[in-house]
Amino acid sequence: MVGVGFGSWFDYVSKERFLTMTPAKAKVIFATHMQAARSRKLTTYETNQLSKARQVLRQQKKPSMNPRKSKVNSNGVLIYGEVQTIYAKKTQNHRCDDDCKAHGHKYYHKFTSKPKMYGLPDGTLLIKP
Ligand SMILES: [Zn+2]
Repeated sequence: MVGVGFGSWFDYVSKERFLTMTPAKAKVIFATHMQAARSRKLTTYETNQLSKARQVLRQQKKPSMNPRKSKVNSNGVLIYGEVQTIYAKKTQNHRCDDDCKAHGHKYYHKFTSKPKMYGLPDGTLLIKP
C-alpha cells in the first residue's frame, strides 16, 4: 500500500474494527499485510488482522476446493451449512386452532433434511437443501 496517507489508513483501520471480515477483504488484507511485512515490522493490530484474514481464507477453502461451489446462484453467500431449527411466528392467514393460539402462533421447526442457509445480495435469507 504505497502512497496511502495516514488519514485514509486510519479510516480503513477504524472501519475494520466494526465490520466482520469478508473473504474479499481478507484477501486484500492478507496481500497488503504480507507485502508490508517484507519491508517493515507489522504492528500488533496488523499482525492480528493478518492472522484473522488467514483464518477467514482458510475457512473459505475448507468446504470445497472450488470457491464457486461454496456459493449459490445470484452470488448468495453460505451462512450456515446446516440449518437445524427455526423458531418462527405465523403472521399471515393460517390454519389456526386453540393450540396454535395458546402458543402465540409460534412454531419450533426442527429440520431433518439439514438444509443450508444463504444470504443473497439484497438481504434475502434463503434456506434450501
Ligand atoms: Zn395460529
